Amino acid sequence: MTVDYEKLRLEMVKEQLEKRGIKDQSVLEAFKKVPRERFMLAENRELAYADGAQTIEAGQTISQPYIVAKMLEALNLSPADRVLEIGTGSGYAAALLAEIAGEVYTVERIEKLAVKARNVLSKLNYENVRVKTGDGTLGWEEYAPYDAILVSAAAPYLPEKLKTQLNKKGRIIIPIGERGGIQQLKLYTRRYNGNLKEEDLEYVRFVPLLGEDSWR
Ligand code: SAH
Repeated sequence: MTVDYEKLRLEMVKEQLEKRGIKDQSVLEAFKKVPRERFMLAENRELAYADGAQTIEAGQTISQPYIVAKMLEALNLSPADRVLEIGTGSGYAAALLAEIAGEVYTVERIEKLAVKARNVLSKLNYENVRVKTGDGTLGWEEYAPYDAILVSAAAPYLPEKLKTQLNKKGRIIIPIGERGGIQQLKLYTRRYNGNLKEEDLEYVRFVPLLGEDSWR
């Protein structure tokens, strides 16, 4: 039996995103377009629109659609924005960012995941995404400053380089808290005086951000 992924995708947007209060039209449109099944491990592709995170290679995860939607909505993205993502994983969030923003730069520490994500993104014709293997706790200096930074892994604190690579009026969304436990999504917004305003959002559970300016 063939699965009608498009139908499941549209249902997911309605049931998991709209009914839980996601309103940003650009975010909802992106979720209607990006085929999450293409970012899943082949053996559990039929779970693509289940309401949760799923396992991918190297013990990592593809995030729950609702949490990614929350993070994207909080970033309040515009079509011209240049965005940095830390923790490419499957590449799913990068594809969503590519639908909403202008340019996407995404860093993954596990080479195998970066290679796979780059391939899928290229097959799906996302030409505005660049994937690199490296330590995202140091950001990606070459293309800085960024209008928005999305950290897709849990950190003990906001890494220093992400602050310095953020544009004026820039926004950062990052889960901060315990390793292997619960974290809280924090939204940082650059003010006119250069300071960062901090806001607390949802409680979440992400795999750890491992690197020079985080857990080792
Ligand atoms: N955004 C992903 C979810 C990724 S899970 C998706 O949509 O599928 C978090 C990812 O962060 C993992 O792949 C992990 O390897 C990666 N990661 C952890 N620490 C990192 C670091 N310092 N730099 C870059 N990637 C990191």
